[in-house]
Amino acid sequence: MTLPGAPFLARDGADLRLEGHALADLARRFGTPLYVYARRAMLAALQAYQHALRGRPHLVCYAMKANSSLAVLQTFAQAGCGFDIVSGGELARVLAAGGDPARVVFSGVGKTRAEMRQALLAGVRGFNVESLGELDRLDEEARALGRRAPVSLRVNPDVDAGTHPYISTGLKDNKFGIAHGQALAAYCHAASLPGLQVVGIDCHIGSQITQLEPYLDALDRVLDLVEAVEAAGIPIHHVDVGGGLGITYTDEQPPAAGELVARLLQRLDARGHGRRELLLEPGRSLVGNAGVLLTEVLYLKPDPEEYVGEGGRNFCIVDAAMNDLLRPAMYEAWMAIEPCVQRATPPRRWDVVGPVCESGDWLGRNRLLAVASGDILAVLSAGAYGMAMASNYNTRPRAAEVMLDGEQVHLIRERETVQALFAQERLIP
Ligand SMILES: *Cc1c(COP(=O)(O)O)cnc(C)c1O
Repeated sequence: MTLPGAPFLARDGADLRLEGHALADLARRFGTPLYVYARRAMLAALQAYQHALRGRPHLVCYAMKANSSLAVLQTFAQAGCGFDIVSGGELARVLAAGGDPARVVFSGVGKTRAEMRQALLAGVRGFNVESLGELDRLDEEARALGRRAPVSLRVNPDVDAGTHPYISTGLKDNKFGIAHGQALAAYCHAASLPGLQVVGIDCHIGSQITQLEPYLDALDRVLDLVEAVEAAGIPIHHVDVGGGLGITYTDEQPPAAGELVARLLQRLDARGHGRRELLLEPGRSLVGNAGVLLTEVLYLKPDPEEYVGEGGRNFCIVDAAMNDLLRPAMYEAWMAIEPCVQRATPPRRWDVVGPVCESGDWLGRNRLLAVASGDILAVLSAGAYGMAMASNYNTRPRAAEVMLDGEQVHLIRERETVQALFAQERLIP
């Protein structure tokens, strides 16, 4: 079986290795829970997009909410990547990592006035605006600063991305974007506001998308609008098709990034939009399979009744929990779990669970594993929406992070300390 994350993640005899480094050794050296990333895997994922886009006006904006650690942003910034941000905090991170604000697009349904001002002063490339109220507010803030805000409208193409309801965003009952039917009027309104400059159009239909058709349908719906808006005398420079391309967690077979891009370019050409700049906002597909979460087995608690059928439960209790990796608890996401050193003993079925006081605190259910207390397990495909969604629930300090780069091993985030968790709290006098 090929592992998700191959060829950077591979088994070498009994040892699971990422970019050539034995993961069990890294767990011993840095402690657990530990996120480990392969820098070359991130760059290869980015290159797949960039290569397919070469010779065409384009910008890849990494949707940094997937993994916003500074060294990850630095890796992408150095490779010429832009960023899709959803908060003022993310903008500050881009700048701290050496990213270029002129390659930043600002998305999100709830931008505050302060965030608008921060982004205008930094000189972001554009705002993806999601409502009429936001257009008016952004116009006010831009005029107050003596600027014109570059805007794209995020339109809701009302296509079904065929993904989990919590990560589907392009249906008309989702909170995101401006309804397709209202978009032309919204563009006319935007063009009438002196503090705004219309620059593009944007959509984003969901996440972990494993088919091409929803993208092509969305692009068609967006191009219909481009044609209508330009016919009304408002030029639109770029088309931003958002992110959302899926990765392989288990047996999903999403299209390769190069294939997605080729089909999008083909459709742009076929409809006479070949010169238009194409923006993409991939998150998960750039980092998801570049990272793993390492965790130590604390205790094995086999079902006392030795019942192995339906409802029988053997618990493998590990030191990582839902606060470290929320996806299984939040979306019932399935993520592969592999021992870092394979045992020769026969496997049995385990529910891999964390120490947090919630029954929803599990990382994997019903997994066939040969394990013993003290073993190190790797949760695969953990580079996206892992550390970025970590919390301090149960007063658990967040994990450390390591970035591998060929021979080099960089600690890119120290393990959080317990003191830091309540340093800003005050007792009542
Ligand atoms: C989350 C998000 C993305 C990235 O989604 P992925 O599934 O991680 O590729 C892109 N654009 C917007 C506006 C988003 O909210």
